[in-house]
Amino acid sequence: MRKIDQVYIGGAFVTPHGSELSPLFNPATEEVVGEVRLADEADAEAAIAAAKRALVNFSTTGKRERIDILERVSAAIAKRVDELKEAMIEEYGGTKDFVDATMPHAASVFLDAARTLESYELTRPAGGAIVSMQPVGVAAVITPWNHSVAFICEKVSSAIAAGCTTVVKPSELSALQTQIMTECFDDAGVPAGLINVVTGRGDVVGEVLSRHPDVAKVSFTGSTAVGQRIMRNGAETMKRVTLELGGKGPSVFLDDADLEAGVPAAIAVGFANNGQACFAGTRILAPDSRLEEVLDAVRAVVPTFKVGDPRDPSTALGPLVNQRQYDRVQSYIRLGRDEGAQILVGGEGRPEGLDKGWFTRPTVFTGVSNDMRIAREEIFGPVLCVISYRDEDEAVAIANDTPYGLQAYVFSADAARARRIADRLESGTVLINGARMDPRAPHGGVKMSGLGREHGVYGMEAYLEPRAVIA
Ligand code: NAD
Repeated sequence: MRKIDQVYIGGAFVTPHGSELSPLFNPATEEVVGEVRLADEADAEAAIAAAKRALVNFSTTGKRERIDILERVSAAIAKRVDELKEAMIEEYGGTKDFVDATMPHAASVFLDAARTLESYELTRPAGGAIVSMQPVGVAAVITPWNHSVAFICEKVSSAIAAGCTTVVKPSELSALQTQIMTECFDDAGVPAGLINVVTGRGDVVGEVLSRHPDVAKVSFTGSTAVGQRIMRNGAETMKRVTLELGGKGPSVFLDDADLEAGVPAAIAVGFANNGQACFAGTRILAPDSRLEEVLDAVRAVVPTFKVGDPRDPSTALGPLVNQRQYDRVQSYIRLGRDEGAQILVGGEGRPEGLDKGWFTRPTVFTGVSNDMRIAREEIFGPVLCVISYRDEDEAVAIANDTPYGLQAYVFSADAARARRIADRLESGTVLINGARMDPRAPHGGVKMSGLGREHGVYGMEAYLEPRAVIA
């Protein structure tokens, strides 16, 4: 039983003013594995004040000092990657395979930010002006429960590179990972107040951060509804916002696609992180001429994705994060049936032999039309739709007929053709034939998937404001 009963403010672990206790569950067993004491409004205020004090010095630091800090933090995280992986498995059921593939990123992203800053011109001429890129100020970092520490690292590293101080408000469901990460920041000897961490409720701590006049910027990853609220709250004091929100990505199979390689890749990206990934390709678009082949391939591939103990290296899908998420996914599977779609594989209920834990059956619907709710709404579980199309124009129209636009996938034997389709998709990122995301490329969405970009130079510039001085 882990007890997390401190927040990190002004360079010290302190007892929070807030007294509410929140249990932490292992979603694979439904057992309580820990308890977190939540920060409240007063803790949020104290953290903002600490970040504001630290900003006075930190905003004037040069590249060398910021790079040193980034390198120290990266080294401190690298030492504890195994513990972080363990916490992610225990706390939200991330599979061993997924955490092995993604956790090293938490350390390397700080080095990436250091290299980005090293080669970046903070001062440059523009006509008769000298433009200097200034830190925007105190940045609030608000993150969701899925893969929480990775998002914290991406945002905090870019903020430090830019010379900003931060107040981090992680989801209360990811308190174990966050605690280890906070200890890493402390072990790295970051200046007091540079990074403050206050785990608490969104409607309490998050509200203070998104409204406070001393917070200049909010970088948020989470649902579209909360992103909209943060933007509205921030409008009062004209806060800069970066919003990484939901998705309903299309996986477009062109009629020349290699289905043997493409379908397993599309299913893997649809079921990534137990289906709890914003970038998931949850609508598989298949040409009429090859629909039966696609359905056969899906039927053959899905059962090869083993559901079970997230610690077992052969497991592809662990449990959903909590009872609420389990109920939500089940209700979407029922809804799909009620809307007239047919279940190709999976269905309601738990997989056979898994009576405990929030495990759900990986499910693929066929006979789906793009106006059904299962095709329009983010389900955030391993539930995919296959939608057929007549020709390329219709494929593009269906792919774009969604409020979201985060990440899309195209499969074709012809690279030039795939690129032409990619250019027509309303999406922050398009990945062709199973290509992987690149941490130097911008990440972010169009339409209701968000505002602004993260990663690399794009991520750092989101914390900078140009100041022009003309003599
Ligand atoms: P959520 O929006 O419910 O919560 C995200 C964070 O916002 C949490 O820390 C929460 O406490 C906080 N919050 C809630 N209400 C708030 C308020 N009024 N003011 C300020 N903060 C508040 O999301 P979640 O359920 O934790 O995560 C799942 C969602 O995140 C999905 O929609 C998913 O698509 C999205 N997501 C997006 C990306 C991306 O990069 N685009 C990545 C991962 C997850």
